[in-house]
Amino acid sequence: MTSPVWHPYAHLLTQPAAPRVIGGEGPRFTLDTGETLLDATCSWWCMIHGYSHPRLVAALKAQADTLCHVMLGGLTHEPADRLARELVRVTPPGLNHVFFSDSGSVGMEVAMKMAVQYHHLGGRPGKRRMLSLMKAYHGDTSGCMAVCDPEEGMHSLFAGYLPRHHFAPAPAAPYEAGPDAVAQDLAALRERLERHHHEIAALLVEPLLQAAGGLNITSPHYLKGARELCDEFDVLLIFDEVATGFGRTGRLFAADHAGVSPDIMVLSKGLTGGYLGHAATLASDRVHDAFIGESPLHAFMHGPTFMGNPLACRVALESLAVFEEENYLDKIARLNRVLRESLLEDPTLRRHPRVHDVRVLGATAVIEAKAATDLEGVAAFARARGVWLRPFGRWLYTMPAYITPLDDMRLVTETMKAWFSR
Ligand SMILES: *Cc1c(COP(=O)(O)O)cnc(C)c1O
Repeated sequence: MTSPVWHPYAHLLTQPAAPRVIGGEGPRFTLDTGETLLDATCSWWCMIHGYSHPRLVAALKAQADTLCHVMLGGLTHEPADRLARELVRVTPPGLNHVFFSDSGSVGMEVAMKMAVQYHHLGGRPGKRRMLSLMKAYHGDTSGCMAVCDPEEGMHSLFAGYLPRHHFAPAPAAPYEAGPDAVAQDLAALRERLERHHHEIAALLVEPLLQAAGGLNITSPHYLKGARELCDEFDVLLIFDEVATGFGRTGRLFAADHAGVSPDIMVLSKGLTGGYLGHAATLASDRVHDAFIGESPLHAFMHGPTFMGNPLACRVALESLAVFEEENYLDKIARLNRVLRESLLEDPTLRRHPRVHDVRVLGATAVIEAKAATDLEGVAAFARARGVWLRPFGRWLYTMPAYITPLDDMRLVTETMKAWFSR
């Protein structure tokens, strides 16, 4: 009998039976067939310490013995308080307030509501739309779908159901681009802001790496320019670091490459090392303090049942401690060297007729094929070689766990290349 589990993004008529995972250790998980697969995607980019990390598992068990859950409505607890302090410590300067929620999408919903209410409380109720970018992905809830790329962003079918926002072109300048080379991208942003700033509450950016919208990588100078434009037009800058946060781009946060502090920043995926779903929306004093006032409208009307869950906070604290104590940024730099050497610096791959582009940033690499059909069959091909790859569209990518040994990283890149040279 087929399982009643309804899988995400699955085409019910053509989906193959999902392999059954029974456990995992380090960068690999094990199937009930006895196969062990090297996870090149670390489970949608969140299992940054790999599977069964002893310290994360121990932290969860210890917290389970003490307190599994209590609401943050009118109550608090030590793991939430400590995690909020730690997030304020490690994130860019000025982000001093932390609102917890339970997933990246909800964290983004919180960010957008905060931005609209911030302007409302400041006497600018007309600012209630977002400015987002083409190729953006910010989540699957309705509010988030409305700020994903409206054409290629998986949700075009829902267009009539969603609120309408503004979009600027995706930045085209690469990571290395200097201030002059991002001028055209910034001019496009400026044009949208000049025309619509009176109704724009916030600019939403996945800094440096637009992830699920096609792994588009851009320059830190774009972020600097975006910060200046937001200040000029009284628009809040929201960084969606759900994918980029916790080392993915080679720095702890993508914002660190540019030395830019957003007004609001959203973290999720790597936050708990992937061990539980959770998210944090951080806000600056300017945003937070606008909510201090006497009218009933000053309260922020949002409160997910599981916000600040003690198990999630405790494992997030352990994840961050392991990240810092074990110099994960060095591990990421070593992975980055392998990715660059074996993909970026391979002339045969880059000249391959089915390859459109190869991009690497931090512990992220993508081979962009000319067409999605060029990748049909690659998952089975990789699985036969002991590697779990899950491409989407025309993008064959890896975002490994940071504990992946370098030989295993090479196994991933060799498998990706073997697909094209087969
Ligand atoms: C995954 C992702 C989200 C959504 O997070 P969920 O936890 O899946 O709701 C939002 N923004 C970005 C950039 C993401 O990569």
